[in-house]
Amino acid sequence: MPTYDYECDACGHTFELFQAMSDPVKRKCPECKKSKLRRLFGTGAAIVFKGSGFYQTDYRSESYKKGAEKAKKAAESKKKSSDKSSKSGPGESSSNKSD
Ligand SMILES: [Zn+2]
Repeated sequence: MPTYDYECDACGHTFELFQAMSDPVKRKCPECKKSKLRRLFGTGAAIVFKGSGFYQTDYRSESYKKGAEKAKKAAESKKKSSDKSSKSGPGESSSNKSD
């Protein structure tokens, strides 16, 4: 049975509830008795933590991406220049010139 996190929009009360997936969504807040409950997906608190974690890894991955891009560009230009030199190396016009 999955655990659902509920949050009350009226009083901000949050709690976990074991529920079957087929169970109806709870509406009434046990704290303020208002029907202002919202069911959060998965474990709500964990998602919040994960969210801020995502930002952190995002920042890190951006600088990492930049570095990777630089490396990629360097590798690409290297590849390009070596491509060029190998292309212009054996020229077509010099094949019959010794005759
Ligand atoms: Zn409430």
